Amino acid sequence: MAWPTTSRHARGYGTAHDKMRAHLMRTVILCEECTRQGHVAVGKIADHKVPLAQGGTGDRSNYQLLCQDCSDRKTLADKGQSARPKGGVDASGRPTDPNHPWNRR
Ligand SMILES: [Zn+2]
Repeated sequence: MAWPTTSRHARGYGTAHDKMRAHLMRTVILCEECTRQGHVAVGKIADHKVPLAQGGTGDRSNYQLLCQDCSDRKTLADKGQSARPKGGVDASGRPTDPNHPWNRR
């Protein structure tokens, strides 16, 4: 794996971010997105609700605690991608997306 060209610090993930993550893991504990969906999962990722790259701040109000799965999904969504298979289904109910697991061999 190549090292990122900018440091964690330069991208807004310095000491303050580490402290916020520790604070959230102590006080929030559960993944906030899973909680909204009625699931229970331990949160491990301090997530910026509005990504720093999109003008989000490092304020507490812009932070939420997420589990790895929810963080991965949100990261994709923030980049305008979807973790869900694209497209709909045909008349038989089979997904039309060639990359859907049902259509892989
Ligand atoms: Zn979650």
